[in-house]
Amino acid sequence: MKCALITGGSRGIGKAICIKMASLGYYVLINYKSNLEEANNTLAQVMLADGNGELLQFDVANKEQIKQVLGGWIEANPEKHIEVLVNNAGIRDDSLMAWMGEEQWDHVLKTNLDSFFYVTRLILSDMLAQKYGRIINVVSLSGIKGLAGQTNYSAAKAGVIGATKALAQEVGRQGITVNALAPGFIKTDMTEGLDEKELKALIPVKRFGLPEEVAHAAAFFASPEAAYITGQVLSVNGGLYT
Ligand code: NAP
Repeated sequence: MKCALITGGSRGIGKAICIKMASLGYYVLINYKSNLEEANNTLAQVMLADGNGELLQFDVANKEQIKQVLGGWIEANPEKHIEVLVNNAGIRDDSLMAWMGEEQWDHVLKTNLDSFFYVTRLILSDMLAQKYGRIINVVSLSGIKGLAGQTNYSAAKAGVIGATKALAQEVGRQGITVNALAPGFIKTDMTEGLDEKELKALIPVKRFGLPEEVAHAAAFFASPEAAYITGQVLSVNGGLYT
């Protein structure tokens, strides 16, 4: 059975990707941290898309939990193969560097960057054995250009971009592609408090993006036909670069 694991699948961009993967015929593993109600809502929408899946609760910032829950699932389901991994779960905790606490730095780095290593490492061995895999990392415009007030978040996302390019070179000959999606401003809980009216003036397309528009790009990277595209960063940002 071909499976897709989406971290942070209970809300926002991850939720839209879960529903998209279901429509493409994947058994969807919906990871979430704490919001069981929203995770169940995603699962219900996966079912509505004629798909199937299950919830997998673990904190991507906690390597022991990843080993226990995800490692346990892999061991218990040898007949299921995770063909598509979307490292999407992420947080921001903004502050000017001068005022940034150690906890703010550590938590953002653990959630956005360390999670890539601990989750992907677990999935990779089966992809290598199957000689097929699609790894998609959700990064950010912030990791490409850097944003004031986000030294922690920009560093984490830039780190994932570097890892995407390095891993793509390691596993290319084994049929595994590794790419990154860099959203600009997307309408989710993460952008809830932002002044959309003011910010959209900066965006050539003149609006915030929708989670479904990021999911569409994820489906492209996930497709078997995208086999010759790896180590890339695709911006989904309405043309916003400055
Ligand atoms: P969101 O609406 O805030 O949703 C975050 C999701 O991640 C939720 O499902 C949440 O689970 C999960 N999550 C958070 N911390 C987690 C942890 N430690 N372990 C497991 N799951 C965790 O965020 P979003 O806007 O969809 O963002 C998704 C990704 O896109 C992030 O990597 C973000 O950095 C990136 N991004 C977003 C934007 C944007 O404009 N929205 C722009 C650029 C990049 P619970 O529901 O259980 O809390």
